[in-house]
Amino acid sequence: TYYTKAKFLTSAPDIRHLKMDEGIEVAFAGRSNAGKSSALNTLTRQKNLARTSKTPGRTQLINIFELDEQRRLVDLPGYGYAQVPVAMKQKWQRSLGEYLQKRKSLKGLVVLMDIRHPFKDLDQDLVHWAVDAGLPVLALLTKSDKLKSGKRKEQLMMVEEAALAFCGDVTVKTFSSLSRQGLGDLESVLNQWFKL
Ligand code: GDP
Repeated sequence: TYYTKAKFLTSAPDIRHLKMDEGIEVAFAGRSNAGKSSALNTLTRQKNLARTSKTPGRTQLINIFELDEQRRLVDLPGYGYAQVPVAMKQKWQRSLGEYLQKRKSLKGLVVLMDIRHPFKDLDQDLVHWAVDAGLPVLALLTKSDKLKSGKRKEQLMMVEEAALAFCGDVTVKTFSSLSRQGLGDLESVLNQWFKL
């Protein structure tokens, strides 16, 4: 598949700086520490494709990874740092909303959430914006290895129930970068979005 072929293409300081609104793009978003970098590395079978910023609150870049000429993964900056100034949060929200609304090549949004702490404030906002923009969403419950299978299923059902309230195309799956649980599910959702 094309995931293992992922190559770093470019970084952008802001969604407005993204060029080439052609082909198919799938974006990954989540609170910082949700496991987004690990998930991107697991998906692409690369150890260091995506890296976390070790400095909370620092301006982070959007990283674009090219899978092939027509397909890209977009790694959006992690959110939810308490220390980030309000003005910066508002700027992030505006530009993200605009990206979800206007980006023609964007075919789906993966929202990564720690399975133990799903749907915090900004996660919900993000899903709402995506649904408003008519975009399908995959709510990926990360670090599933942290829960025993009974509790994991319970949490999945709870989030699936909560997802119905968004009245959009919201799929929920569990995932672990550690055990690779859910990797096949993640790939099959992405495969649908990446269909030419
Ligand atoms: P990001 O900030 O969203 O990019 O999160 P990272 O991928 O850097 O992961 C944040 C922390 O969670 C790191 O300490 C990872 O080792 C840990 N982590 C990520 N994925 C998993 C997982 O599937 N299982 C477990 N147990 N820990 C994970």
